[in-house]
Amino acid sequence: MSAPTIPYSRRGFLLVLSSPSGAGKSTLTRNLLSDPDENERLKLSVSVTTRERRPSEIEGVHYHFIQKKSFEAMRSQGDLLEWAEVHGNFYGTPREAVEQALAEGYDMVFDIDWQGTRQLVEAMREDVVAVFVLPPAARDLKSRLDRRAEDSAETIAKRLTNAKSELEHWVEYDYVLVNDDLTRAYAGLKAILGAERLRRSRGYGLPAFIAGIQADL
Ligand code: 5GP
Repeated sequence: MSAPTIPYSRRGFLLVLSSPSGAGKSTLTRNLLSDPDENERLKLSVSVTTRERRPSEIEGVHYHFIQKKSFEAMRSQGDLLEWAEVHGNFYGTPREAVEQALAEGYDMVFDIDWQGTRQLVEAMREDVVAVFVLPPAARDLKSRLDRRAEDSAETIAKRLTNAKSELEHWVEYDYVLVNDDLTRAYAGLKAILGAERLRRSRGYGLPAFIAGIQADL
């Protein structure tokens, strides 16, 4: 079923997905961006990171991979909308791309952790829709990380230890999705997007649209 068209102007929003490593959030994000129903209205916020590139990752697509010095320069110049240290590396959201996409009427997807989500909520509460993705059980996190096989055993162990404290932040999110089945979780995500697009508060074109209907009655 295709998404409803909205016949008035509306403000874009920031769809934030967070989860412990291995809960399947990146797959959900990828599905959204390759969905023909969505990709004309959605953009991905590509973060900068000081982490090393994994073999499967592409510069400018998954991340902008930068040196710590460049990260610090961006941060001190106010070029980052939010930033955090996660698993010993630095990550941040370049401000300019987000402002441009929102001004052009796109919704924007963020794959960021709870620290970044908190900063976005503090800065732009009305524009943020925050979704926490959960694994169905602990063993699923572990098996997904092992299957990915791109990180060292040490890195995987660190991510699993961190998962425990990351899970405590679920209460800061608007929605919770349990990723027990990708098709089902994706349907849930689309339902969230669909409903959030229809929020009255984002429809700045609604008064004119409704006045137009009234005028023709
Ligand atoms: P990974 O190294 O697996 O790509 O990402 C590790 C964690 O960093 C994930 O939880 C991811 O959501 C988070 N992350 C990625 N980019 C950003 C960012 O720009 N800001 C924040 N706060 N977290 C990020």
